[in-house]
Amino acid sequence: MSHTGFPASAVTLETPITKRITLKTPFISSPMDTVTEHSMAIHMALLGGLGVIHHNCSVEEQSEMVRKVKRFENGFILDPIVISPNTTVGEVRALKEKWGFGGFPVTEDGKLRSKVIGIVTNRDIQFHSALSDQVTEVMSTDLITAKTGITLQDANSILRKSKKGKLPIVDENGNLISLLSRSDLMKNLSYPLASKLPSSKQLIAAAAIGTRPEDKTRLQKLVEAGLDIVILDSSQGNSMYQIDMIKYTKETYPNLDVIGGNVVTKEQAASLIAAGVDGLRIGMGSGSACITQEVMAVGRPQAASVFGVSQFAARFGVPCIADGGIQNVGHIVKGLALGASTVMMGGLLAGTSESPGESYVSREGQLVKAYRGMGSIDAMEDKKAGAGSKDSKASNAGTARYFSEGDRLLVAQGVSGSVLDRGSVTKFVPYLMAGLQHSLQDIGVQSVSELREKVIQGDVRFELRTVSAQAEGNVHGLHSFDKKLYS
Ligand code: GDP
Ligand code: GDP
Ligand code: 5GP
Repeated sequence: MSHTGFPASAVTLETPITKRITLKTPFISSPMDTVTEHSMAIHMALLGGLGVIHHNCSVEEQSEMVRKVKRFENGFILDPIVISPNTTVGEVRALKEKWGFGGFPVTEDGKLRSKVIGIVTNRDIQFHSALSDQVTEVMSTDLITAKTGITLQDANSILRKSKKGKLPIVDENGNLISLLSRSDLMKNLSYPLASKLPSSKQLIAAAAIGTRPEDKTRLQKLVEAGLDIVILDSSQGNSMYQIDMIKYTKETYPNLDVIGGNVVTKEQAASLIAAGVDGLRIGMGSGSACITQEVMAVGRPQAASVFGVSQFAARFGVPCIADGGIQNVGHIVKGLALGASTVMMGGLLAGTSESPGESYVSREGQLVKAYRGMGSIDAMEDKKAGAGSKDSKASNAGTARYFSEGDRLLVAQGVSGSVLDRGSVTKFVPYLMAGLQHSLQDIGVQSVSELREKVIQGDVRFELRTVSAQAEGNVHGLHSFDKKLYS
């Protein structure tokens, strides 16, 4: 611990997830079907981290989730939903239901790049009960517009002054080119750390796929939906399948970042780095719902894996994710100190409202949410059967992570259970962030990169703790206590 001469709020948590993309916080949610679908992905990105959408679902379902992440926040909306003058009020209601927003520009032929003649918004149709009336009866026509070519900053300032909800951007002939939405100004204000691409201001979307030939089709659909980062999801990443997939992906989609894994040794990492990965995911057998080490006798203690692999990968500028085993803020600090750039969490986030499914009351009377390993029998059976998806067995079989899902006899590498309900990630992630900032402040470093440098220089040191030192480091000697972590 060195001298602390700055407040916790001055600690920056900026850190790379891939060679090209840097996030404002190091928190990643795991691609598991009880952890990350679009709601988790949107909220993790809004809070400065990232949610990786799982692939235990059909191609269509997964790409729809990516699309939802990409549409959630925008700068200029380049492909707004546009309607024609003979659209009815009833049809507009249905569109609002489908898309979740209700502001639609009306153009002469109902398409983009056609003359804009009005705009329909929620308020125009709210109390209009004649559903068969055409939108021309209710739309606003006194439009404030801006000319294409305007900067986002100037367009936003017109939008602010106009007090309207939308700002259509038009060319010199009045044809609609794009749209700006006031609610995006609010989202930008409310979530200053959001993980966004500077050009589009859209949230960064990440998703996982397997390494079977069918996954190439899946990847194509995800890229069409706007995917920015793909994680190749294998429990043992150093396989010929993954190496082929990395090369194929880098060649076919040069703008897509590829994270390979999982790896726990330098040798595994070296193969994937040579194949061209932009990031690595470290961990085998340390996940909270995992029984790989017990059943397979394969795996490695997580701290040793993170230290060994990330030190090696740093020589090639490849950032690493410490994946699995994160149960509290302290574990996050240790993962980052040992060289990881980000940490991936499954069980810790599975109990939040943004994970898929509903909370329920356990037999013991506690509010819990389901959490299962992706190598659990339950998850593999769903994958085999294509459960929950409209798709065929074939496309789901393509997503295998444990090379076992296609087998007649399934060998479990994970368990199925539940975790305590945690409320919303919009409270929990800021708690993780504040906790991490306080920790780094106590250590005396002002950033994640400084933490890593000081560990390597030997200024920040780990010390072996005896069993009694560990006991002393936990709550002890109390008759009873309540472990409330944040308020
Ligand atoms: P920021 O305000 O810190 O995000 O600064 P940036 O350089 O990223 O943004 C430049 C301009 O774009 C500013 O006027 C921002 O308010 C605006 N901006 C940032 N994100 C969004 C967004 O999601 N939508 C819209 N419409 N504007 C945005
Ligand atoms: P509305 O007033 O009901 O249209 O909804 P809001 O303005 O509250 O929210 C619209 C949100 O959806 C903004 O964040 C937009 O960036 C986003 N969005 C994404 N695609 C579109 C689109 O095609 N049209 C509109 N109106 N919004 C879109
Ligand atoms: P947690 O944060 O719950 O400790 O660990 C999450 C990580 O566990 C995931 O990101 C993934 O790498 C790993 N994992 C998920 N399901 C399984 C499984 O069934 N078996 C094994 N071995 N690991 C799993």
